[in-house]
Amino acid sequence: MLRLNDLKLPLNHDETALRKSILARLAIQDDELKTVSIFKRSYDARKKGDIQLIYQLDISLDAKREAELLARFEGKSFLSPSPDTDYKFLAHAQSDFPNEQQQRPVIIGFGPCGILAALVLAQMGLKPIVLERGQDVRQRTKDTWGLWRERKLNTESNVQYGEGGAGTFSDGKLYSQVKDRRFLGRKVMTEFVKAGAPEEILMVSKPHIGTFKLVKMVENIRAEITRLGGEIRFNTKVDVIHREQSSDAQGQITGLTLSNGQHLQTHHVVLAIGHSARDTFEMLLNQGVYIEPKPFSIGFRIEHPQSVIDKARFGEQAGHPILGAADYKLVHHCKNGRSVYSFCMCPGGTVVAATSEEGRVVTNGMSQYSRNERNANAAVVVGIEPDKDYPEHVLAGIDLQRSLETLAYQLGGENYNAPAQLVGDYLRNTPSTALASVTPSYKPGVSLGDLSKALPDFANEAIREAIPAFDKQIKGFAMNDAILTGIETRTSSPICIKRGRDYQNLNTRGLYPAGEGAGYAGGILSAGIDGIKVAEALAIDLLKLDIAI
Ligand code: FAD
Repeated sequence: MLRLNDLKLPLNHDETALRKSILARLAIQDDELKTVSIFKRSYDARKKGDIQLIYQLDISLDAKREAELLARFEGKSFLSPSPDTDYKFLAHAQSDFPNEQQQRPVIIGFGPCGILAALVLAQMGLKPIVLERGQDVRQRTKDTWGLWRERKLNTESNVQYGEGGAGTFSDGKLYSQVKDRRFLGRKVMTEFVKAGAPEEILMVSKPHIGTFKLVKMVENIRAEITRLGGEIRFNTKVDVIHREQSSDAQGQITGLTLSNGQHLQTHHVVLAIGHSARDTFEMLLNQGVYIEPKPFSIGFRIEHPQSVIDKARFGEQAGHPILGAADYKLVHHCKNGRSVYSFCMCPGGTVVAATSEEGRVVTNGMSQYSRNERNANAAVVVGIEPDKDYPEHVLAGIDLQRSLETLAYQLGGENYNAPAQLVGDYLRNTPSTALASVTPSYKPGVSLGDLSKALPDFANEAIREAIPAFDKQIKGFAMNDAILTGIETRTSSPICIKRGRDYQNLNTRGLYPAGEGAGYAGGILSAGIDGIKVAEALAIDLLKLDIAI
């Protein structure tokens, strides 16, 4: 099998064009080409009048001919042997696992990172126990809607906490920029497809599955983990992690105290708690686990009519079924030294209330698979850093997040409405008093006013410079009627729970910090990949295998 890269064809090419173009590129005859399958398809829309589809293909000829072609095109990046992308397990437990000397591994958190860690450990025969503070996904959906429809927040079952983790009520974007030489992302996607995600996610370059499909998929993966001997306990928060205080500063994990009062003995714990478990971060620090502060970002959600974004990106081809609803990714480096960028862009979606703490307002975005809501939304955020912006102590980033979220709650009217402003008014520094052509999608509702009060001056200065700059790339971005809603604070974790080359915390043996909360992932796919990596490292240690990772 050969991998043929970078084959470009016009957006509206006919069915025969792909085959013809392969024959022409490789100068081969039609009867030599045995099979063709699309590995990835992306597009290049830089020239709106001439949008190109870009294919990565797997093709087969007879073995001798494949070898000849590889020799003829040696050194050319467009042709290579197709890599083996199948996942290979590093280890398998004996059927009697756990024996008297062994303990089952424990995973804290059942978001994408914990799910993939649990699945891979279960597939290796290691019968993991998963502890998740939130509810199963059906109950959690009801609880989450409680805030959106009735302004009732359940602080243990919401957008951030519960089966599926933070990504469950999301756009379900499944791409990342992490280096992935072992094709672990393919393993994540393949498991998602087995659990009911659409097969096209394996093929398109920017796959997404939307929130409804995610819910079903997560349930199916849970069933598979259980079938393999794993166990998932919802409504079970880890209150305390116990670690030995050892003289060489390397404390071993000994067990956990759970919210139901039980004590669970274990020497191997995957810590996949996401970026919002602030009480758990505090507990870890109090127990002596090594943690560092890290940069994150703050800002607003912006909403435009999706048609404006489609037109700006695709021109006459707006609405083309292959292209779908258009997305964007923007960055601007400001005169005051700050960078502003778009984040978690959700085409044809809605802005959602994403707080997990009472008396606070946080925004985020989600969509359905169809992405056919009226508005496009994305966070527009400013990067901030511990040394400059929250130097006081290790968890000072959390204090800053909390104070901004409380302020947003107050500006919204103290009823979980989010504060909002028209983009035109925000740029002119005039409070908004009435909506115009864009209807905000945030539920339970927005309160119009002066949104600049929600952020520090340097952040407003940067965003006011960036929005007109973004308008040069996406015409209409700075349109008067677009809506800004606040506040975005949960863009990534404010801390890093540092780990070493063995994936264990720098001063706590047996503790495997992972995923977004630990600072090792940003998004569903990268969190899933990280879950696999820590599962492998944990299995090697638990089974005492002599394998380098
Ligand atoms: P999480 O998903 O946060 O999971 C952590 C889990 O740990 C939670 O379920 C929590 O309840 C549990 N937990 C925490 N503390 C404890 C404790 N003490 N005891 C027991 N359990 C505990 N990313 C994308 O790639 N694409 C998107 O389209 C996208 N959209 C998003 C939309 C929204 C509304 C949100 C909130 C996030 C979105 N993200 C998206 C980000 C993505 O969801 C996260 O990057 C990802 O979920 C991180 O995975 P994780 O497993 O590391 O942590």
